[in-house]
Amino acid sequence: MRPLPELLPWSEWFWTSGADGRLRIQRCNDCDAYVHPPAPICPKCHSTSSAPTPVSGRATVAGFTVNSHQWLPSFEPPYSIAVVALEEDPHVRLTTNIVGCEPTDVHVGMEVAVRFEQQDDVWLPGGRTLAPRAEACADR
Ligand SMILES: [Zn+2]
Repeated sequence: MRPLPELLPWSEWFWTSGADGRLRIQRCNDCDAYVHPPAPICPKCHSTSSAPTPVSGRATVAGFTVNSHQWLPSFEPPYSIAVVALEEDPHVRLTTNIVGCEPTDVHVGMEVAVRFEQQDDVWLPGGRTLAPRAEACADR
């Protein structure tokens, strides 16, 4: 089983947002900045007013590595771990796995789109835990 994130009051919506297939990123209601990872206070203007905002789910690979060691039983190597820049704001970065192509095909500048993976055996208040993953090669 995949290790799951700790659901905090200000981030639970992020991990359950994919139930309808939409990626949502926290957006400040006062300065419009996208904030990720979710936080109770906007790092740009210190506002405490924000809302989960649907985004396109499209991003560009900004950096990556290919892991070849089996650290966990549920993670069969090799697999890629990438930092992707959000289409709406390239300063917003998400760390994710790139799936849908060989790990050695991942490259900086590759366009990816979000794909959600549901962990069936974990149930949490408000919805199932979902881990955002990028679907590589989807737009090629
Ligand atoms: Zn702000």
